[in-house]
Amino acid sequence: MHKIKRREALKLIGLGSAYLAGGAQFSCKGKKQHIITLSFDDGFEKSSIETARIYEKYGLSASINVIATAHLEGFELPNEYHAWPAGDFELWNELQDKGHEIMPHTYKHVNLTQVPFEQATSLIMKCFDVFAEELKGFRQENAVYVFAHNASTPELEEWLAPRVRAFRTAGGVFNPLPYIGQKKLTCGSHGPENIDRALEKAVNEFLDGPSGWFIFNTHGLDEEGWGPMSSGFLDELLDRLVNHESASVLSATQALDLAIGGTHKLTD
Ligand SMILES: [Zn+2]
Repeated sequence: MHKIKRREALKLIGLGSAYLAGGAQFSCKGKKQHIITLSFDDGFEKSSIETARIYEKYGLSASINVIATAHLEGFELPNEYHAWPAGDFELWNELQDKGHEIMPHTYKHVNLTQVPFEQATSLIMKCFDVFAEELKGFRQENAVYVFAHNASTPELEEWLAPRVRAFRTAGGVFNPLPYIGQKKLTCGSHGPENIDRALEKAVNEFLDGPSGWFIFNTHGLDEEGWGPMSSGFLDELLDRLVNHESASVLSATQALDLAIGGTHKLTD
């Protein structure tokens, strides 16, 4: 289902086979590999549709992380940065059908470090229940769970790790290249103002550095959400990255699949 440009796929095949041959220590004839995942949180309807449209323009799969109950009447806004209409599961299924990745970004956006452990785990399970009910083909063991506010505790991470494929939390943009058993993905983010310049700087620094996997937590586009990105900037950034020798723009799942030899299904 994931559509990806052939050139991108060829770069990735090199990455996948190097993994199979070389294990965790990555080397592809000395060539650098820079995986870039922009991880879009909060599921604003307008922004998500536009994000998906821009990704599709480049044959890429967007990572969109949505709150299980944000589309329901009576959803209590966690803060002023959520005051835009959220998409519903009809939209999430539609975007998933187009090859985008829809992942759980909490039940109702509670900071789980501020509630008792039992309440935190119960909220995570309730989030999975909604996804299992509403998102076609959802399987918890394939999920990349995205903590609200990138806030987790070692206890929660330990509890969650065997229950999901991976989870995303705070800890910085730089992750090692995908490896089997990689559970903890860390990200950077920026806000509450527009993130274009901060993201561009972070991407450039990453591309100048060693091979790795860059994960940046983005939110809405233009005026929506905490730390929004301009849609024109996203378009230009993807255009630049798909033409960059060592860069591959991947969803979290596409990146994790590389560790198990995945090269992405070529649909063209
Ligand atoms: Zn959020």
